[in-house]
Amino acid sequence: MSIRASDWQKRVVLLLVIVLATVAALDQFTPPNVVPSSAPPGDFSAERAMEHLKIIAREPRPLGSQANADVRDYLIDTLSSMGLSPEIQTTTDVQRWPGSDIFQVGTVHNVVVRLPGTESTRAILLDAHYDGSAVGPAASDCGSCVVTLLETLRALKAGPPLKNDIIFVFTDGEENGDIGAAAFASEHHFMKDVGLAINFEALGSRGPAQLYVTSQKNGWLMDQFFKAAPYPLASSFFTDLMGFFPGARPGCDLEEYMDRGRAGFAFLYAGDTSAYHTMRDNVEVIDPRSIQHQGSYALSLARHFGNMDLNAMPDKPNAVFFNVFRNVTVYYSGSWIIPLAVFTSSMFMLIIVLGFYRKHLTVSGLISGAFAFLFSVVITMLLVIVVWQAVRT
Ligand SMILES: [Zn+2]
Repeated sequence: MSIRASDWQKRVVLLLVIVLATVAALDQFTPPNVVPSSAPPGDFSAERAMEHLKIIAREPRPLGSQANADVRDYLIDTLSSMGLSPEIQTTTDVQRWPGSDIFQVGTVHNVVVRLPGTESTRAILLDAHYDGSAVGPAASDCGSCVVTLLETLRALKAGPPLKNDIIFVFTDGEENGDIGAAAFASEHHFMKDVGLAINFEALGSRGPAQLYVTSQKNGWLMDQFFKAAPYPLASSFFTDLMGFFPGARPGCDLEEYMDRGRAGFAFLYAGDTSAYHTMRDNVEVIDPRSIQHQGSYALSLARHFGNMDLNAMPDKPNAVFFNVFRNVTVYYSGSWIIPLAVFTSSMFMLIIVLGFYRKHLTVSGLISGAFAFLFSVVITMLLVIVVWQAVRT
């Protein structure tokens, strides 16, 4: 078989396009640069947030530990020094895992503070859990979330007042089955005012922060999200999965608020997951750019929804959304799913028919092509397993 010069040129161009597209696609996974502490007071600065984190993430702080109580005191002191009146919600909560006989029980101490608006319609709840796993200092999970809220609160106070109240809930006992968030949602009198809940989480030590789950019927929420967020990285996959399998849980505090009918967003970063729930989840390893990214959502969404009438949040069907490149998001209403599926399937069939008609395709060629694809997937997976085992030993 001989290949003509023009075929070679086509192949080189195709390869270049693939390489460039890959580089451009990977670029979106770099979080935004850290804003320095010298930035104007109304900005979110991860450098300022990191100062809190150095104190919060000194040692493991599981539910009921002395370190957990020390961090709670630090939160009360910090919030009081901002001129606010934080309170501690102490209660014992029991959680039953849906459909099972596993119960989780504990006495939690949630730190709750309310930033009053000028003419509140419904309140926005910002949630981060301050407890951590017993095996590491939990800088990312979820010290990073706590300092994201502290820095957001500081920046909000430095700016013009918002219309709606913002309720900050620093939950306890998230690692024990969200019992802190469940206690707030079922017992605290602030909960009746909450219209929208926004939750922050972390599963590694770095990487971009992304919107990984929302409440159902999110069409209107997503319209607003894309107007407000400066570095949007989002995927509708998990939200739709939960729509199909109502038993599937996002595994974070947000589920407690969504279970009680609240609209909501949950964000997380999940790079370097091998740090998750280990001693490596510490302030030396964490990438502050991930906190900057979390903060970009917290502050922009608080300001955006903080000045809207949240009594009028229309139900719109779920949107479909995913990122292609940095700041390039594909986003369309769920009502387009069937028409688009019909269109792409028809195009695919047309290409097959044309391929046979022009004698570029054969049945045996199609079958071996399909098997070659499956084979390459299996081989890639095996290679990754072998290389990973070699790296670990
Ligand atoms: Zn967590």
